[in-house]
Amino acid sequence: MTDRLIVALDVKSSAAAARLVEQLGDAVSFYKVGAELFTLAGPDIVRELKRSGKRVFLDLKFHDIPNTVARAVQAAVTLDVDLLTLHASGGGKMMRAARAAVAESDTRLLAVTLLTSFGVDDTEQVWGKEINSLREEVNRLAQLAAETGAHGVVASALEAEMLKRRHGADFLVVTPGIRPPGAQRADQVRTATPAEALRAGADYLVIGRPVTEAADPRAVVAQMQEEMTQAAVQ
Ligand code: C5P
Repeated sequence: MTDRLIVALDVKSSAAAARLVEQLGDAVSFYKVGAELFTLAGPDIVRELKRSGKRVFLDLKFHDIPNTVARAVQAAVTLDVDLLTLHASGGGKMMRAARAAVAESDTRLLAVTLLTSFGVDDTEQVWGKEINSLREEVNRLAQLAAETGAHGVVASALEAEMLKRRHGADFLVVTPGIRPPGAQRADQVRTATPAEALRAGADYLVIGRPVTEAADPRAVVAQMQEEMTQAAVQ
């Protein structure tokens, strides 16, 4: 189960990231590097993780003209990242160009459909139309992503089952907003426990603050892995 848990390295420096990776040791083999750490520490943080045998999810959520995104994706491929995000709302041409850029590599593209911070009002404001259901919008964008080359999507565990059913077992569903039973939700709204996310069909579970802010991060990870193993055998 260690290979399906991704710890988000949402920390303020490469030294803090290195400390956490060291603390977690063999218990965690997959890390997410997001906009904050990448902007502070640059590609070296990715190179270091890969050198130490870890897998890397580079979560930079690209959204630009197709040519620019294709070039940025090519740059990420040279870092040998395993998962990389882009916005489905960047459009089909952008996603096709991104897919072509990962063709010769093992990098897998994940599309962000609607940010989980978006509610109906935010979505109506941006798209300039009445929104009947956010789920419908997520579905529509996931469909576009699947048709134009994304290998999967980032979604909440609450949508995982629907997306797997619709797009098949090979379409990756990566779920943030994971909270061990009883943990603080912080600003996440659509949360699930590790067992719930796995049962819904999530391929990878992303967890940040419950681990990065814990007094004993290794103990939190051990407890999550125990719960994930139990859910897998049930
Ligand atoms: O600290 P927490 O467990 O909430 O962290 C979740 C991580 O997943 C953060 O790095 C956040 O940027 C990311 N994320 C998310 N919701 C999305 C996409 C990514 O929470 N839809």
